Amino acid sequence: METKDIERLVRPNILAMAPYSTARDECEGNPEIFLDANESPYDNGFNRYPDPHQRKLKSKVAAVKGIGEEHIFIGNGSDEAIDLAYRIFCRPGTDNAISISPTYGMYGVAAATNDVEFREVPLKEDFSIDEKGLLAAADENSRLLFICCPNNPTGNSFPREQLLRIISAFKGIVIIDEAYIDFSSGSSLISELDSHPNLIILQTVSKAWGMAGLRVGLAFASPYIIRLFSNVKYPYNINGLTQEIVAKLIETARPRTEETVSERERTAKAMAGYRGILEVYPSDANFILVKCTDPKGLYKSLIENRIIVRDRSGVKGCEGCLRITIGTPEDNDRLLYTIGIWSSALSPDRDTARDGSAETAAASRRATVFRATSETGITVMIDLDGKGPCFISTGIGFFDHALEQIVHHGGISLLVEAKGDLHVDEHHTVEDVAIVLGKAVSEALGSKIGIGRYGFVLPMDESEASVLIDLGGRTDFSWDAEFSREKIGDMPTEMFRHFFKSFAESSCCNLHISARGENEHHKIEGIFKAFARALKMAIARDRFPYSLPSSKGVL
Ligand code: PMP
Repeated sequence: METKDIERLVRPNILAMAPYSTARDECEGNPEIFLDANESPYDNGFNRYPDPHQRKLKSKVAAVKGIGEEHIFIGNGSDEAIDLAYRIFCRPGTDNAISISPTYGMYGVAAATNDVEFREVPLKEDFSIDEKGLLAAADENSRLLFICCPNNPTGNSFPREQLLRIISAFKGIVIIDEAYIDFSSGSSLISELDSHPNLIILQTVSKAWGMAGLRVGLAFASPYIIRLFSNVKYPYNINGLTQEIVAKLIETARPRTEETVSERERTAKAMAGYRGILEVYPSDANFILVKCTDPKGLYKSLIENRIIVRDRSGVKGCEGCLRITIGTPEDNDRLLYTIGIWSSALSPDRDTARDGSAETAAASRRATVFRATSETGITVMIDLDGKGPCFISTGIGFFDHALEQIVHHGGISLLVEAKGDLHVDEHHTVEDVAIVLGKAVSEALGSKIGIGRYGFVLPMDESEASVLIDLGGRTDFSWDAEFSREKIGDMPTEMFRHFFKSFAESSCCNLHISARGENEHHKIEGIFKAFARALKMAIARDRFPYSLPSSKGVL
């Protein structure tokens, strides 16, 4: 295709129009006094119109992308470029656009707002393109063809050779949306622009660049197409503040992808192992598409735990699927933990194994407690009847290890995420984790009806630890364990006593701990394991769940 072929695709009214010329377009010389644009003369930083051509921003984008400024259009999000493509190339009521399906919803929405027929060609079952079907959907009025690569919401990319074949074969404009290209192992088609005049590439600073709130999308195309975009856009489509900030960030920052990509792989792998997850589709983007047995149920569980994902189960081709964006490692831990809880509730043997009672099985014993102070931010999620999802991250290695013992020997599910002032010392983190954990146990226990209440002595090689617990509701604490070392691993030994004391106070329990032995590591590990066992006994549901384990009749 050549430029004259592209010209034939442009709506006649667009070819004929005279674009709006701003006051600053007509500005000549080197003026100091601006009386041309009816602005306010009083300087407050925003009183002047911004550069309608975004020259400074374009020069930075050009440098980063290795492409001339004449190939760049900057829009108010990629959505502006999508809409403009319809307005430039499609005659309402006559022309049509073609797209793969499922894909990003705005291609269809913009078709509808522009009164353009939208022809969707389903992807194959493995989400690959039905190349023949796609090209066969075209007729003499097909002006635009959209392919999102990597595709939203399926997450996969398409082979470069296939895209190039389609671009060569299609008689209209092909728009390749590369919003997620930074997360992909493939490379951009920008290098193909010179050899394909009918190609428009969309990118955005909303994803890997982390600037979704600023609303900047990029389109790369031949200078001829870029001129058409500039003629049709609102004169000042990118506000001054945005131009300034994006120009600065593009110069100084880089897209953040490394952690997201490794977290994507970790999260996908972990999720694939859960009951109720049928398929985790391979992804080249910053999200994963997950097919599950009960998408609405999982969605609801996640919402209850204050996690929102995108329910795509109603989208054709995505039946049963949720689209899950990859967050920080902490976000992903919480996600996995919550899916783990949801998943273990699906297990047919779960509750009978625990207490043999369908009635008690109905009442869940879970709690989520957040606590933020100027010293720490702690999240604890606990399921006293869980099956072991365990995400512990306190920043203190040995403390993590100790808390994991509570999960493994306590028969619970636990997430502990602590961000504390460890640069000061471990004190606040350990104390606050204990407080939040105690509160979470107490909340999860609820009425305490049917619990065992008491419990444990545990040998650990040459050491021995005894933990007596009473969840009756009164608080007492004793500690009889001495350590000759100041630290075990990275954990100060004085903090062990403090941890359990804080837990006892926060959960209102009686806790009596003693330990003796020669090996310091064994001694404390014994204490944590004995604590876990004691807790397990105390929270265990009695076979006769109607009674409170109290001679007074109240707890
Ligand atoms: N293209 C795709 C494929 C997207 O998924 C999105 C946003 N979800 C966009 C474009 C929109 O990007 P922008 O923020 O630049 O409008």
